[in-house]
Amino acid sequence: MDINPIRGMKDLYGLEFRKFQYVVDKSVYVASKYGYQCIETPIVENTGVFQRSLGDESDVVSKEMYSFEDKGGEQITLRPEGTAGVMRAITSNKMFVNENNPLKLMYYGQMFRYDRPQKGRYRQFHQIGLEHIGEKSPYTDVLTIELAVDIFKAIGLNNVKVLVNSLGGSQSRKVYVKALVDYFNKYENELSETSKHRLVTNPLRILDSKELNDIEICQNAPKSRNYLNKEDAEYFEKVLMLLEQCNINYEIDLNLVRGLDYYTHTTFEFRMSLGEYKDALGGGGRYDGLLKMFGGADVSGVGFALGVERLMMLLSNDVVLDSPEKVAVIPVSESEFDVAFRLVRTLLKDGIPTELITGGNSLKKRVELATKRNCGLLLIIGENEINNGTIVVTNTKVSDSEKRNTVVNMKEIIYFLKKNI
Ligand code: AMP
Repeated sequence: MDINPIRGMKDLYGLEFRKFQYVVDKSVYVASKYGYQCIETPIVENTGVFQRSLGDESDVVSKEMYSFEDKGGEQITLRPEGTAGVMRAITSNKMFVNENNPLKLMYYGQMFRYDRPQKGRYRQFHQIGLEHIGEKSPYTDVLTIELAVDIFKAIGLNNVKVLVNSLGGSQSRKVYVKALVDYFNKYENELSETSKHRLVTNPLRILDSKELNDIEICQNAPKSRNYLNKEDAEYFEKVLMLLEQCNINYEIDLNLVRGLDYYTHTTFEFRMSLGEYKDALGGGGRYDGLLKMFGGADVSGVGFALGVERLMMLLSNDVVLDSPEKVAVIPVSESEFDVAFRLVRTLLKDGIPTELITGGNSLKKRVELATKRNCGLLLIIGENEINNGTIVVTNTKVSDSEKRNTVVNMKEIIYFLKKNI
């Protein structure tokens, strides 16, 4: 039996788990202030849920999905992203939404993409995602972006830059795609096989190509911003003006089309503006018609997803090291195990974080074990203490040996601990 996890997947424990929890807790806290509520959708969906909404030609659908046939012959897929499942859930559960009654939903959990594993890129990873569905306005777009910036700040990342672009609505997009086809037709013979195919099926996706030659050709390709009709251009101008007003550190990136088919109007991506880290921390944008595609209301939405592992990589260890100070109850010998056991239960019931240390075959070993487990106050119980009704409390965090040990009356131990933790 191979005891290693599947390639590109890993176990989450110890410090890493605390970082994960920290990132999720802060995000949920900030988003709840903006009026978001959590939703959890299944990790597997019918393959069609992703295929149609993300686009057959997107890298995610064409190359990276974990799709299987289940025992009943259904084609199912481990979710590669969260938006499609949320749209499906809104429709399945008949959640009420229209232009005046927006739904603000947030989720977090595992995503799966069969990509080449490397630093910061896994086959199983976590995303935190938010969707604001119903309202369509530059104000909503900018508040959504500011929410992401607030999440970054809450976890201590103050140097995040926002890249923005606009793909326009369906009318502008049609004109833009035509311009792209005219341009790429001139280079048809030089394009990679995948891009040649996309030229016929979905020309916009050529811009996502990772082939060097394609990337070079794409550099001079027409830019969506130049093909926005008047209304879409005004919408984008307003977004930029509001970003300015909110003092958000942004930059226009005319090549930002994002990898999925459903984006319209504002698209954005988050990157560190200082330091070595170059990969995106997350991204998102506005989407029209996605809910309608699932049989729901014809309303627009805006949302983003953040890569939790990317955020964890940038998080300082210090912020999660501060676990609550724990108490250790250490019986000197086996004769005191029963008393120690009862004391541990009393302290736990009173809300005091406590561990019973019976391992090791000497008092010295047990003290070492307790210190290793980050227990600050050690309650040592021996025969004398039981006879006298006292406990010796050793404070391992104090360097002055005179102040280290205090003899406390057993009856007053809870009062003493609450004062000293
Ligand atoms: P996307 O859904 O592709 O826009 O991705 C949003 C964010 O999720 C990215 O910016 C990354 O932070 C994160 N992400 C996407 N794919 C992976 C992956 N394979 N491993 C780790 N994080 C990922």
